[in-house]
Amino acid sequence: MQFENTLAFARKLDRNDPLKKFRNAFYIPKVKGKTSIYFTGNSLGLQPKSTKKFLDEELTDWAELGVEGHVHGKRPWLYYHKFTKKGLALLTGAKTSEVVAMNHLTVNLHLLMVSFYRPTKSRFKIITEAGAFSSDQYAFESQVKFHGFEPDNTIIELKPREHEHTLRTEDIVSAIQQHKDELALVIFGGVQYYTGQFFDIQKITEAGHTAGAIVGFDLAHAIGNVKLDLHKHQVDFAVWCSYKYLNAGPGAVAGAFVHERHSKSFDLPRFAGWWGHHEQDRFQMKKGFIPMAGIDGWQLSNHPVLPGAALLASLELFQQAGLKNLFAKSLLLTGYLEYLLNQIDATGKIFNILTPSDKKSRGCQLSIFMKYNGHKVFKALTKADVIADWREPNVIRVAPVPLYNTFEDVYQFSEIFKKALRA
Ligand SMILES: *Cc1c(COP(=O)(O)O)cnc(C)c1O
Repeated sequence: MQFENTLAFARKLDRNDPLKKFRNAFYIPKVKGKTSIYFTGNSLGLQPKSTKKFLDEELTDWAELGVEGHVHGKRPWLYYHKFTKKGLALLTGAKTSEVVAMNHLTVNLHLLMVSFYRPTKSRFKIITEAGAFSSDQYAFESQVKFHGFEPDNTIIELKPREHEHTLRTEDIVSAIQQHKDELALVIFGGVQYYTGQFFDIQKITEAGHTAGAIVGFDLAHAIGNVKLDLHKHQVDFAVWCSYKYLNAGPGAVAGAFVHERHSKSFDLPRFAGWWGHHEQDRFQMKKGFIPMAGIDGWQLSNHPVLPGAALLASLELFQQAGLKNLFAKSLLLTGYLEYLLNQIDATGKIFNILTPSDKKSRGCQLSIFMKYNGHKVFKALTKADVIADWREPNVIRVAPVPLYNTFEDVYQFSEIFKKALRA
């Protein structure tokens, strides 16, 4: 599409947007009484207006039924983890038996590393991207130490080439090949939280498997943002949180995926709890853990129903919008933002966009690397009612989210950004 740098053009795109009605399904935060430009859905997704109804229904069942809500509730709490499976399977390209909502992201990462990171004396290394999200780094490091290895010579962090901002797939693949005899686990972010790079899940998984390693992904910034095909791409395991693009609210219940081919690997080491035990006799409270097949066998505890209700509310919107529509709009929306930013600073004197310009290698987020005065510019944005995200040392992350952001948001942002640079 031939973009134009005018408000009229942005408004025309909004009028023609098949998803335009979804903005009104969300509460858009206000700053000093004025609707903000909310570009932080990559950090905390907005609240669907329907969330309250879903929560209220559970509160009502609890008030009226007490413990009986487990069986007689509108959505019986005993089976609550099943209700989000369809939506999660759609978003991850998985079978319903491969996904479940449970715990928090970092907890799930540990649980699945217990099963899938099983280092031996000769095969113990982990390959990941340099600068992974802190919690992931801590998880990797502590897992490595738990098995008696030294993080420094066990965790291989891949950095972009000199003068480049993001990793080339060919370099990831060759690093995997280079370490193949000692490699236990390849684990990457789906979309890198800092640069916004969408890694090539298929190629990385293939390379990892060829090397004889297990391959996992942290989809915190990928789920609800980019098209995923975990089942088809043979990914071994994945984890995510649901408060970013999934809009399930602060501290939402997270999720996990284990590929079907591991569904009956009952001999994998795992940490067990009663919710992973065979459903039929879970309440007999007998000795001897028998895991359920599939990801359900990794559950520990009974499902958190209120966070589960909030997740359901949001998943319903994704299903109504349709992922094809969503990702098509996302390409346009972020493409428009990139076009406008490039018009402001075509030569990259003031800032660079770290995020790949290749549309297949990114989701909706653009990470703007400020060459100077970054903090001042960010403050000016905030003052002009833009809610964006600052990352040390000098990156402004902006994420126009296709479910609720508009082309006019993008246009207005670029005008405000231009003024902020001048000030
Ligand atoms: C947001 C995020 C987390 C947060 O972890 P929690 O366990 O949900 O607190 C971890 N890893 C990545 C890559 C993230 O983007």
